[in-house]
Amino acid sequence: MKKIAVVGTGYVGLVTGTCFAETGNQVVCVDIDEQKVEKMRNGFVPIYEPHLDVLFERNIKANRLSFTTSLEEGIEDAEIIFLALPTPPGEDGSADLSYILGVADELGKLIKEYKVIVDKSTVPVGTAEKVHAAVQANAKVDFDIVSNPEFLREGFAVDDFLKPDRVVIGTSSERAEKVMEQLYKPFVRQGNPIIFMDEKSAELTKYAANSFLATKITFMNEIANFCEKVGADVDKVRIGIGSDTRIGKRFLFPGIGYGGSCFPKDVQALVKSGREENFEFEILNAVMAINEQQKTVLLPKIKNFFRGNLKGKRIGMWGLAFKPDTDDIREAPALYMIEALLKEGAQIKAYDPEAMENVKSQIGDVISYEANEYDALKEVDALIICTEWGIFRNPDFGKMKENMKDAVIFDGRNLFDIEEMTSKGFYYNSIGRKTIE
Ligand code: NAD
Repeated sequence: MKKIAVVGTGYVGLVTGTCFAETGNQVVCVDIDEQKVEKMRNGFVPIYEPHLDVLFERNIKANRLSFTTSLEEGIEDAEIIFLALPTPPGEDGSADLSYILGVADELGKLIKEYKVIVDKSTVPVGTAEKVHAAVQANAKVDFDIVSNPEFLREGFAVDDFLKPDRVVIGTSSERAEKVMEQLYKPFVRQGNPIIFMDEKSAELTKYAANSFLATKITFMNEIANFCEKVGADVDKVRIGIGSDTRIGKRFLFPGIGYGGSCFPKDVQALVKSGREENFEFEILNAVMAINEQQKTVLLPKIKNFFRGNLKGKRIGMWGLAFKPDTDDIREAPALYMIEALLKEGAQIKAYDPEAMENVKSQIGDVISYEANEYDALKEVDALIICTEWGIFRNPDFGKMKENMKDAVIFDGRNLFDIEEMTSKGFYYNSIGRKTIE
């Protein structure tokens, strides 16, 4: 059993804290957001993440998981302090380290005995040194800094955390290495590796992983766009290339661009880090530019269908979250589509199983929020699919047609079979596949 503090209880911090409690550790989660802490103290999970609620409840009941707004109280007994704080893009696109360095500065004043301070946030190369210096400035006791980037995916966060493909630990301290190895052992019993390395390599591993994945998606989006030009079918191409084990089947689905709180900001931050070293990541520049266009790739198609005029058109929208199984809307392609469609004078009736509250608090009532997927279709001129939630995959097509003014679908996630949709009487336009008029 280890005593752990997790500072920052967002998607990463709360999952980290809960999963460490699940393996028998004593965890205190610290957050500056008083409302959030109050909610968690009352037993409510403040985010939507599948399976998190069961573990959350169980560990609170077992007194292994508690919450506080006080950093001092939270870290007092902890041997290991995780920083799971935001690193949003600053004005120039580089990662904003003020949250992390602010807490590091506080920690220097607060720690009274040896602590392992672990950076779980995604941070540029060299941050461990900066955190070390910030703590050192006030610390009167020994401490070690570890870079332990997190690879969980929202929507699968609990599974990913409990059974990680790998754990990356960057530290130059043998003492800290041992502590981290003991902590993570229960999570890699199947034989997946704990990979030890220096801090800088660990920091870069996370950016390299996300940038590679963003590039993979973007490559497929470009192939899809080209498929449309030449009459090829991206689904066939995807399967054709994915069965080559060097390429792999995963992460090859084209769509309306990547979003979320990680890929856009991490690609941008890596490019920015490069520039600071007079190094230009040409491939990532292209990835960012292509993704920017891809987010609204459906717009010219829709405009073309309605002969250039969307004024007064009613558009149903399925999906607002940046991907299924999350309520996270950060950099969600749906938000870019909403902005573009409203600018054209269209009206939007949206439905998302989990993300509507977040969208409402960000953009207000400029669109209408519907009770279910079928209400979002009432009297609409067309439907746009922005997120591939499971419930959208096998809908009642008859009911859809009954509700819609016109049976017109623009699918940004390629959910349906083209021939089947055509035989059901839909105009069905998707990404990288033919459209039967
Ligand atoms: P988040 O915005 O969901 O959560 C951050 C939390 O930190 C919030 O609850 C906020 O109130 C709290 N906070 C801010 N300042 C604080 C302070 N001074 N003291 C205590 N709490 C404070 O962020 P997230 O999505 O969990 O991401 C955290 C980090 O992990 C980022 O660097 C991100 O890039 C990285 N990451 C995220 C994911 C993901 O899927 N979300 C995956 C891997 C890595």
